[in-house]
Amino acid sequence: MNFLKNPQALPPMNTLSILANFRTASVALVLFSAIGMSACSDSSNDSTPAPTVTTRASGITVSVQNTSGITVHTLTAPESVFANSTHLIETENSLVAIDTQFLLPNAVDMRAYADEIGKPIDRVFITHDHPDHFLGSEAFNDRPVYALQEVADLIEANGDAEIAEKQGDFGVDNIASTFVIPQVVAPGTLEIDGITYLFEKIVDAEAATQLVIRIPNHGVVVTGDLVYSGVHLILAGGIEPWTTALETVAAVSGYPVVLPGHGAPADASVYNANIQWLATAQQLLDTVDNAEDFKQGLIDAFPNLGMSAAIDFVTPLLFPSN
Ligand SMILES: [Zn+2]
Repeated sequence: MNFLKNPQALPPMNTLSILANFRTASVALVLFSAIGMSACSDSSNDSTPAPTVTTRASGITVSVQNTSGITVHTLTAPESVFANSTHLIETENSLVAIDTQFLLPNAVDMRAYADEIGKPIDRVFITHDHPDHFLGSEAFNDRPVYALQEVADLIEANGDAEIAEKQGDFGVDNIASTFVIPQVVAPGTLEIDGITYLFEKIVDAEAATQLVIRIPNHGVVVTGDLVYSGVHLILAGGIEPWTTALETVAAVSGYPVVLPGHGAPADASVYNANIQWLATAQQLLDTVDNAEDFKQGLIDAFPNLGMSAAIDFVTPLLFPSN
């Protein structure tokens, strides 16, 4: 992908504290916002029809697929602003929204798209506490919003600070002024509009606490940031526990439709792709001593992945002496 040719162009930020909360990532990505979305639909699945893919005026890519009678809409932001993927599960009478985009214009466009479908949003789920997943909740503040207890607690504790900081970085037009403190969904089973949902808690992977949502009768699993699809991973968590979490989620068969936290909808092959990426990152950490070789090693190993700027977000932490 042509999205980042010049890592030196990354902004000089107070990198360590920033990276811990995704902040340099945000700033760096928006600096490259002139570059558009690179298509990264890798969801080749022989047993289900390919998603219909369109692009909205906002730059959001919309992938629509029908799976055993429900319609799944995935809205993916341009790679220049994280390639955040948010999802709308359309059933007979209503919608369920999963994550709410990062930038306010994208969240508003996601809400507009949902309203265009013409069915009420029954509720919204937030998969984890990173700002690129919950700051768009302002656009859904008239609907019930849910998250795991730990995630709701972190959003409540850090939301105001995230808004102040992100408005400083991106401007008040691009970052919401409010957010929704989620109600709590417990791990377990819930029926919504006649459809069974399973809620699972994964800890210590890309995020400290991650909600995974399965729709078992329709073969759909929503992984949040356990999975990146078609783009380089942002190495925000430990390689070993993240790999274990991927193996755990992948071990449950019967879910050919995998909806990631970043990038295009995928199939179950994406787990191994992510595991391979993490293994390669570990090999490089064991063998190289600088950020440039680390990044180039990942680009060489995975030439088809987009958003190589994701690697730059973490190299200051991995190679602090460079
Ligand atoms: Zn994310």
